[in-house]
Amino acid sequence: MNMIDIISKKRDNKVLTQPEINYWIKEMVNESIPDYQSSALLMAIVLNGLNDQETSDLTIAMKDSGDVIDLSNVQGKTSDKHSTGGVGDKTSLVIAPLVAACGGKVAKMSGKGLGHTGGTIDKLASIEGLSTMLDNDQFIKQVNEINLAIIEQTKNLVPADKILYGLRDVTATVSSIPLIASSIMSKKLAAGADTILLDVKYGDGAFMQTLDDAKALAKAMIAIGKKNQKDTRAMITSMDQPLGYSIGNALEVKEAIATLANEGPEDLKELCVEAASIMLVQGDLFEDVDTARNRVHEVLSNGEALAKLKAMIRAQGGNEAVVDRPNLLPKSKDRTALLSKNEGYISRIHAQQLGLSAMALGAGRRVKEDAINYGVGLILTVKVGDFVSKNDVICMIYHDEHLDDDFLSQLYDSFEFSMEKPASQPLIAAFLD
Ligand code: URA
Repeated sequence: MNMIDIISKKRDNKVLTQPEINYWIKEMVNESIPDYQSSALLMAIVLNGLNDQETSDLTIAMKDSGDVIDLSNVQGKTSDKHSTGGVGDKTSLVIAPLVAACGGKVAKMSGKGLGHTGGTIDKLASIEGLSTMLDNDQFIKQVNEINLAIIEQTKNLVPADKILYGLRDVTATVSSIPLIASSIMSKKLAAGADTILLDVKYGDGAFMQTLDDAKALAKAMIAIGKKNQKDTRAMITSMDQPLGYSIGNALEVKEAIATLANEGPEDLKELCVEAASIMLVQGDLFEDVDTARNRVHEVLSNGEALAKLKAMIRAQGGNEAVVDRPNLLPKSKDRTALLSKNEGYISRIHAQQLGLSAMALGAGRRVKEDAINYGVGLILTVKVGDFVSKNDVICMIYHDEHLDDDFLSQLYDSFEFSMEKPASQPLIAAFLD
């Protein structure tokens, strides 16, 4: 077998066999295939696609390129969730404790953020002392004891994805449904949970710009999950504005704590309640989503959900006092209000641009090696559809460094105004299974 034949086959729109896909991934991870040949094949895949069988074969070959986590010692069905990435997306910090408080087992591996989207591990790292580097035995023991652990992906989880993603990023080959689906699902299958709930985002701040593309991606991932005997379902949700109001690590932890105390923003709460309810049904804890939802509302109002987050912080060595006193979380040195120069309704909030602004403040990484400033970020004071007058505050900027005019004008351009009230769009556009 050789790479030139495999690349030519895909260039000519032919179907690759499982041995051919296995050869590519195995030899690429062994460093026997140069980057330019993998890049050429990636571009051929972007242009000619992969069928369901090829996508599944690629996913399995990627999954088997590194560690596959064995969760069989967890008592009960384990549930995982994955969001395709958004701005202000702190849902894992809310959903995982909600599910755990209702009896579900959440053994979750999360990633760090890169670019305009944040990562759960960075948000958790803003809690003093908290470790996300548990070994496998500690991870399983904690899930058996308190139903919940969130840890950092092991270094050797799907090494093929690390190589491929690095190449895709610099060869304009990220936007391909089979490549995104295999990248995400290889990591989910390697992380070992029994059930997977996908939150597939569409809109400005998301990988998929349209609802139709988001549905196609969700269907591709559900097909892979089912082929691998995992109960896989998806929610399709809008990223046409950030979720909740906060963007930035400690600011998002604060908002997640408020949401678990039943005092959070409505959009964040709605998404988290629906996701947790579906995960509880997937985990066989409730027969239907309505009954599960009732219990989720109960743990939100009786403090059990918040107590579960506290238990997780304690178990992972963090300062649990932040749950009762969020002001103990890292803070920026300065705060500056961004004022509206317009009068009218907020018609759009460009999530991606806000994510980039938060990154420029130090809340995210431009490159993997960048250090994170946990206290900085943005808190919006408006949502799409709100009416503002001139000089109303539309956003609070939490920063350490001087803010220059370019930064402020880019941030301001994230907001669009109109004299007509925009039609309201549902946050959750569809459920698929
Ligand atoms: N997230 C991933 O993990 N992989 C992709 O290809 C896109 C989003």
